[in-house]
This record gives sequence, structure tokens and C-alpha cells, in this order.
Amino acid sequence: MAIDVIIIGAGASGLYLASQLKGLNVHVFEKNQRVGIKILASGSGQCNLTHDGYINRFYDKYGDKKAFVKFALNAHDNHAVMHAFKSKGLALEIRADGKVFPKSLKAADVVETLRSNCTHVTFRLNEPVTNCRFNEGLFCVTTEKGSYTSKRLVIATGGKSYPKCGTTGDGYDFAATFGHFIEQTKPGLTGVVTRDKALTALSGISLAGCVLTLKAGQERRYGGQDLLFTHFGLSGPLVINNSRYFDKGDCLTLNFLGESREAIERMFNNDVRESGNKPLSYYLNKLPLPHALKEILFPESILNRDVKLSQVTKEMRKHLLDQLTQYVVEIESLIGFNQAMVTVGGVATREIDPKTMASRIQEGLYLIGEVMDVDGDTGGYNLQWAFSSAYVCAQSIKSIIGGKNDQ
Ligand SMILES: Cc1cc2nc3c(=O)[nH]c(=O)nc-3n(C[C@H](O)[C@H](O)[C@H](O)COP(=O)(O)OP(=O)(O)OC[C@H]3O[C@@H](n4cnc5c(N)ncnc54)[C@H](O)[C@@H]3O)c2cc1C
Repeated sequence: MAIDVIIIGAGASGLYLASQLKGLNVHVFEKNQRVGIKILASGSGQCNLTHDGYINRFYDKYGDKKAFVKFALNAHDNHAVMHAFKSKGLALEIRADGKVFPKSLKAADVVETLRSNCTHVTFRLNEPVTNCRFNEGLFCVTTEKGSYTSKRLVIATGGKSYPKCGTTGDGYDFAATFGHFIEQTKPGLTGVVTRDKALTALSGISLAGCVLTLKAGQERRYGGQDLLFTHFGLSGPLVINNSRYFDKGDCLTLNFLGESREAIERMFNNDVRESGNKPLSYYLNKLPLPHALKEILFPESILNRDVKLSQVTKEMRKHLLDQLTQYVVEIESLIGFNQAMVTVGGVATREIDPKTMASRIQEGLYLIGEVMDVDGDTGGYNLQWAFSSAYVCAQSIKSIIGGKNDQ
């Protein structure tokens, strides 16, 4: 019997798609011995499968890909994903921070829910695809065990982060075979190693309210999330969720208080007026920053803390304000693909129809999930993208060749 659809990759998007193609002869090729390996690793083994709230709040979670992701996210939003899992018997829990998990907090239950809805699917496990091409109206997919043909091919191979999960970037080569352009890839949702090691002494300390400014071409400001100091440099949501914009050699300017230089200077002037006889240590103690950070920013050897506020010199004042609002760190490197949660870059989205995930270059070819140049913030946005893109792809395939509607 002719294969209707070949899917390469039994990860989040491949499984979600396969589960919706009931009534069709679907073959899924997976490099690993079992399906959904990366889902098992997701959310520290608990799987944060989406986020609660209005779907229009999701658009900005995908960097500059808002226009591309909008249609699929609306076509199959977070509530549709939650409904899909719940209707298949998986109880969910929405945490106070909006993250959605299986109630059991077991990623394995998410995988099992998807797998058990794929009874119509032929899984070819432990069978990595090594090559694919298009010849005389058919896609031909090759593995070490044989060659398989189908009129439709879906590349759902994920990116190249966490390569031990099987995601080694094969999909980029497959897409390129069909003429797709691959946007340069780099690790995403990752921390940065800083050249300046002074702040690494604060490893484990988290800071709210800090604002980061990146001056690389245009100036970008990031705030509103926590910064985490680590033994290698900087991490935490503030860095991780914006790491897609960072590169080796970039300089990040840290404003630890998140207030403008002028506002901080005004507050300092107030203290001078009202408490001019008090020592500088009085002012430093009042700063709402971790003690250890203040020790690094204002070491006794450089700043005499006993000097009266009214006698702080122009140079001392400049040093204070510079350290608080313009502390510059250079990025030595991004934490690499072995630890990064996603891949930035991938198959260029301009070559993919956002309503169907069909290739605009090769008829019958589809690309879903992380293989595309789409990466989301932490919080369930990447799995949501895998599911939404798979859904619109399934709708498109079913509208062309039929298949049963999912119950
Ligand atoms: C540690 C970690 C934690 C994460 N936590 C979360 C989270 O909690 N929430 C969230 O939203 N996102 C999370 N993510 C991101 C999310 O898991 C991915 O974005 C998502 O799984 C991508 O889905 P996908 O279907 O595109 O690819 P994947 O799920 O990566 O699946 C791709 C599959 O293709 C297979 N494959 C690759 N090449 C071949 C080939 N040549 N032949 C056959 N098969 C092949 C791979 O083995 C793999 O199984 C996390 C990622 C990591 C690494």
C-alpha cells in the first residue's frame, strides 16, 4: 500500500502531526529507539507543554517572528492544545506563573498520550533517514534499511541543540537538498560566558529589576525578568530569553537598578541634601542590591566609604553612577548546543507558507517545529509552536488527500 505521508522525526511536532493523520498511511522515521526523547527531557522531565493566557500574548515570545507564527498559533492555540491533551485523558495543571504541565509532572505521560494516539502510524524506530530527494513526482527517503517513497514528506527533525536527543541538524541538510535557504544557526535559550569574571563570584544570586542593553548595530534594551549570576557568567530568564540576539564579542551594559542615570543621580542628590553629614556607606547600604554585588561594584580599595556624602567628589559620583547603570560585560561565548534548549536559525521562514507549513519551493514538502527559523521563549512556547505548526500542516494534508477527523 502506497505511503501517504512520510514524517522524518518522532519528536513533539512529528508525533502531534502523525496523531492527527488518522485514516492515512503514515510512516514516521525516528533515529532513536523510542519516540519523543526530547519531550522526555523537557521542563526538567516534567514537560512544560504550553502557557496559559490569551494567545495574542504569545506573539512576542518568538523574537521577530511574530508575523510568521501568528496564523498557526491562532489556528491551534494554547487552549486547543490543552483540550487536545485533556480529551486524550491527560490531566493538566496550570501553575501560578502560567506554565502548563501534566498533572503527574511526568513528561513521559505526554509522550505516551501522543504515542497512544498513533495506532494507525507505522513507526520506523532506530532508523535514521540519511538522504531524501524528489524524483518523478515522489519523495524518496533512504535509510540504512531501505528506500521508501511517498507523495508527501514532512521534515520534523528539530534543531541541533541537545544533540544527544538525536537532534543533530539533519533536517537542514534535507531542506537544503530541496533548495531551501538555511539561516545561520546558533544556540538559543542559553546563558552567556562573560570575559570579565568578577561577577562570577556572585554565582547563584538572582537579581530582579536589572536592565540589559545590547549595542550591536541598533541598540536593544531588555528588562522585566530576573538576571542570574553563574559560575560562567550570566543566565536567568533575562539572559536566556534574549540570548537569540546575543553573539560572541557583543558587549552588554548592565543597569543593576533599572532606573535611569538621571533618576539615580537625583536620588543621590536628595541624600546629599538631607543627610550630607552621613558617610557614603549610608547611601550604599540603602541601595536595593545584594550585599555581595555592592562589594564587587564598590570595593573599599577604590571607594572610600567613610567620606561624608556632602564631600563626595565629582569623580566618585561618576564612578558610582557608572557602576550602577553602565557596567559593561563582554560576551566571550554563548553556552553551546550541548546545553542550549533550542536552536536559533534554521530553514528560512520566508520560504514556508505560514498557513500550512508547506514549502514554497518544493511541492508536497512540509516543515514543522524547530527545524524552521523559529524559536520561542521559555515557558512552553516552543512546544506550543511544535504543536501549532503540526496542526496546520495536518489540516493542509487532510484537505488535499483526506483522512479522518480526530475524535
Ligand atoms: C533540555 C530541554 C528542555 C526543554 N524544555 C522545554 C519545555 O519545558 N517547554 C517547551 O515548550 N520547550 C522545551 N524545550 C524545547 C522543545 O523541546 C523543542 O523546541 C521541541 O521538542 C521541538 O520539537 P520538534 O518536533 O521540532 O523537534 P524534536 O522534539 O527535537 O524532535 C525531533 C526528532 O527528530 C529526530 N531526528 C532528527 N534527525 C533525524 C533523522 N535523520 N532521521 C530520523 N529522525 C531524526 C530526533 O531524533 C528527534 O526525536 C526544551 C528543550 C530542551 C533541550
